[in-house]
Formats: sequence, structure tokens, C-alpha cells
Amino acid sequence: MANKNDIYGYIHSFQSLGTVDGPGVRSVIFMQGCPLRCACCHNPDTWEFCRGERQSAGEMFDRVYRFKEYFKSEGGLTVSGGEPLMQPEFVTALFELCRSADINCALDTSGCIMNDGIKELLCHCDLVLLDYKYTNARDYKKYTGMEMEQADIFLGVLDDMKKVTFIRQVIIPTVNDSKESIDKLFDLGKKYSCIKKIELLPFKKLCVEKYRNMGIIFPFENMEECPDNFCFDKIF
Ligand code: SF4
Repeated sequence: MANKNDIYGYIHSFQSLGTVDGPGVRSVIFMQGCPLRCACCHNPDTWEFCRGERQSAGEMFDRVYRFKEYFKSEGGLTVSGGEPLMQPEFVTALFELCRSADINCALDTSGCIMNDGIKELLCHCDLVLLDYKYTNARDYKKYTGMEMEQADIFLGVLDDMKKVTFIRQVIIPTVNDSKESIDKLFDLGKKYSCIKKIELLPFKKLCVEKYRNMGIIFPFENMEECPDNFCFDKIF
């Protein structure tokens, strides 16, 4: 692999410390660029490719390393998006640097692509947060633009690699909040032994203003928000 200072990525933003993207306290890097168009997306400003801050893996490692003392044993770095799988060389190099400094590395992804480069990246992840967005093929395609089969292929590879995986799904009232849908989601935990947790996340509309400012329509603007108490984690 090339020198990690020669491997660049496009970064949307950097959160020095957060507690909602993986276990413990974590730095979060939001990558720029995503091929999906999820109807519930909170970050439409991450969609466009080759925008944002162009940074080398070494530069981003230095930023993360400054917060290492806050991570303690559970926390670390999460790379999210946008879609981190679209910049696999950069994320791989960054994870290699972090893991050599004993920083736990989590990947938050839609699982939209699988190839040898992605398998290489997965080898350098401690944890994968897989956003498994719907439990039926029709809604998957309709509300994300992605085939559900692709998420299943990705999950199959995670299982083969015995990669610790947390499944996450945003629960949207009247769309995927039925007992049938949630039971189907929990069934994944029985089918794939790599799944250690399934997290149900409440749909919120904090992004409405962002869509307005960008002059684009938020498809779920008229949907009801999900009450917080609906959501929970199931551990496997
Ligand atoms: S995968 Fe994530 S960033 Fe991309 S459109 Fe969906 S929710 Fe938004």
C-alpha cells in the first residue's frame, strides 16, 4: 500500500467526541459522497462526491489520536457518512494507522457495495454498524434506491468473516414500525451469528431545515416522528 500520507479522502465533517455511533465515547468522521438517496436521510449535504475537506489518512489519524485518552476501553473511532465504502483505500489506511495505535475502529455503512477492496477494508474493522434499512425488497428499493439483496450479500460476507456486527434501523411510523417488520429484523439476529446487537433508532425530522436550505424536497417531511420510548436495542 502507498504511504498513508499519499492516500486522500474527502471528509464532510469531524466530530471529536460522540456517544451515539458505536459503543463508548468515539470520534466520528463523516465521509463525503453517497450513491444512495434514502428518503429518511438526515445528511443530504453528504451526498455529492469530491466535495468537502480533502485530507490524508495520516492527517485524519493525527486529529483522532488527540482524543485517544477519552476513548477508554469501549470507545474509539467510527467512520460514517455519506458512505465510507466509496473511499475504501482511505478508510483502510486510516483504520490501519488507528489500530496500530490501539484505537478501536468501527465502520458505519449501508453495505451498498461488495468487492475485494471492501473485503480488505473489513479486515481492518473491529466493528461494523450495518444500516439495514427495511425488511422487504419493495421498500428497500423505493426508499433508498438500493436492492435489499445487496444488504444481504454484505451481511453474508460479515458473517463469513465473523465480523462483530450491530444492525441499525431507523423506525418510521407507518413505514417499518409494524410487528411483522420488526420481527423480521430480529430474525436476522438468529440467522447470522456475527450480529451481536440490533438497534432500533427513532425517526426524527431535525433535518427539515437542511433540506429547505438546499432547495430539495425531504420525502418524509409529512411523516410522524417516532416516540423515543418505541426504540430499543436487542442483544444477541
Ligand atoms: S446511506 Fe446514509 S448518507 Fe446515504 S442517503 Fe442513506 S442515510 Fe443518507
